[in-house]
Amino acid sequence: MPSIFTRILRGEAPASIVHRDTAVAAFLDIAPLSEGHCLVVPLQETAHLADLPPQTLDRLTAVAQKVGSALRAADPTITGLNWLLCDGKDAGQEVFHTHLHVIPRRAGDGLRLGGRPQKTSRADLDAWAERITRKFSECP
Ligand code: AMP
Repeated sequence: MPSIFTRILRGEAPASIVHRDTAVAAFLDIAPLSEGHCLVVPLQETAHLADLPPQTLDRLTAVAQKVGSALRAADPTITGLNWLLCDGKDAGQEVFHTHLHVIPRRAGDGLRLGGRPQKTSRADLDAWAERITRKFSECP
């Protein structure tokens, strides 16, 4: 059974896509911890980090870095970022297709990782994807 992320990448499930290349994609988390919360996902489905080819991990982090820059450029209220990678059930992993969270932080947001997701809609997620994508291509 393919993961939900593989289904998204095959076009079989909806997503608000920010970026896609030959190795990784980035899209909005459906249950964001903060506005603009993105996931960076390898096209190759591997359950665990140890199974990911090192060059794919390199690409994953490079794209996450650029997603972070694009988020900051798209929304000046973003003054920090958390990266989160849950590897294994006991580390809180829910989707067994390795992925890196890029979570925007804003001054005084009081956010707790593992806290409650924000209310959102597909229209909101699409609007965020459009804002981030516009800046993504401008980031080095
Ligand atoms: P974790 O495996 O704990 O690192 O987190 C899995 C993340 O995937 C959660 O933040 C979910 O909200 C997110 N997620 C699950 N299904 C979807 C989906 N269809 N589209 C986007 N994000 C998703």
